[in-house]
Order: sequence, then structure tokens, then C-alpha cells
Amino acid sequence: MCTEPHPSHAIVTRRRQLAAAGPDARAAPRPVSADLSPREALDLLYAGNRRFAAGEPVAPHRDFERLKAVAPAQRPFAVFLGCADSRVPIEIVFDQGFGDLFVTRVAGNVSTPEITGSLEFGAEVLGAKVLYVLGHTACGAVTAAVKADPVPGQISSLFYHLRPAVRAARGDVGAAVRENVRNQMDALREASPVIGRLVREGRLLVAGGVYDLGTGRVEPVDG
Ligand SMILES: [Zn+2]
Repeated sequence: MCTEPHPSHAIVTRRRQLAAAGPDARAAPRPVSADLSPREALDLLYAGNRRFAAGEPVAPHRDFERLKAVAPAQRPFAVFLGCADSRVPIEIVFDQGFGDLFVTRVAGNVSTPEITGSLEFGAEVLGAKVLYVLGHTACGAVTAAVKADPVPGQISSLFYHLRPAVRAARGDVGAAVRENVRNQMDALREASPVIGRLVREGRLLVAGGVYDLGTGRVEPVDG
């Protein structure tokens, strides 16, 4: 007969501990607010990823109270352009929850006009402080673009956006992933007057990095 406590018992005990500790016990390490500076917002993201990659996530803002709190209005502190890859769930890898991140995802994390419009909405209308472009190791879309094999349907439409990075990387998928993050950061700053103005005014920071599928760590990319 099993003598280990049932997992649900541990969950109930944890909930009781949190209830005893007060309403802030499940909150993020610091409150997400409109007066965060762009640099502070970026630091929050990296701190979340460090917790996640260390196997010590807080999993903040994922309870029903938070759902209720953000239902009337959202004020995410970061907007994301990430890949659609099932192994890169943005809220989980940055240890955030409901209402924290405004996320767009598309294979190869490329800034199509619709994606750019969504990111502009998150930054200009919702007031996010960081625009983060996240690539990842062994990206299938980048790998396919490097190989340039024939693909069905409209998959090749992604290649148009990835081509400059693929050319610069000369067959190296890892280099192409990093170069694509840089290119998308540049494209968003330069091709979007809205994002460019927010950056010039010091209200938005454009940053990027590469998520490692094997370690859970995000390595920043200069750009
Ligand atoms: Zn990918």
C-alpha cells in the first residue's frame, strides 16, 4: 500500500499556507504597474525566466482572483513576438500569468503586417513597456528556410521574411535564429512609425533573445 501523501493533499496544504500568508502570497515578486520603466519591465522578464529555468517558478497570476481582477481591462507590461512552436509557451517560460503579457506567435517569429499591428496595439494602446522578440533553438521554420526544400501550401510565405537571416547565416541554423531575432527587432523599430516613436520617447524598449529548448534559458541577443 502506498504511504506517500496523495498529490492533492500537498496542493490543499499549499493553498492553506498561501491563504494564511495573505492575498499577496501568490503575486509576482513585484506588482506589475503602469509606472514600471522599460528597463524594470525587461528585468521582470529575465527574473521570471531565471526562476523558470532554475526549476523554481512562482507561477504568478494564474488563479481565479487574478482572472477576475484583469477581466475589466488589461495592462500587460510586455508585448511578444514569439514562434508558434509548442515547446515555447511564453507565459510559462517567463513565469508570468493572466494579464501580464500580450503575445503574438507565428512560425519563425516574423513580423508580418498583421503581427506588427498587434504589437503596435499592445505597446501604444495597452501601454506595454517592452517589445520582446523571442526566437528558439532548433526552430523548424528557420531550419526549413535554411534547407530551402519544397514545402506545401502557404508555408513558403514565411521564407520571404526569414530570407535575409538565412542568407547572412550561410547554412548555420543557430546563427540564422539569432540573426532573425535581430532582423525582426530592426524591422519593428524601423518599419513601424508607432514603435519607432515610442522607442525614441523612451516609453518602449525593444529587446530580443533565443530560448534554449534543452535548458529553458533565454539568451539575450544584442540588437
Ligand atoms: Zn520555431
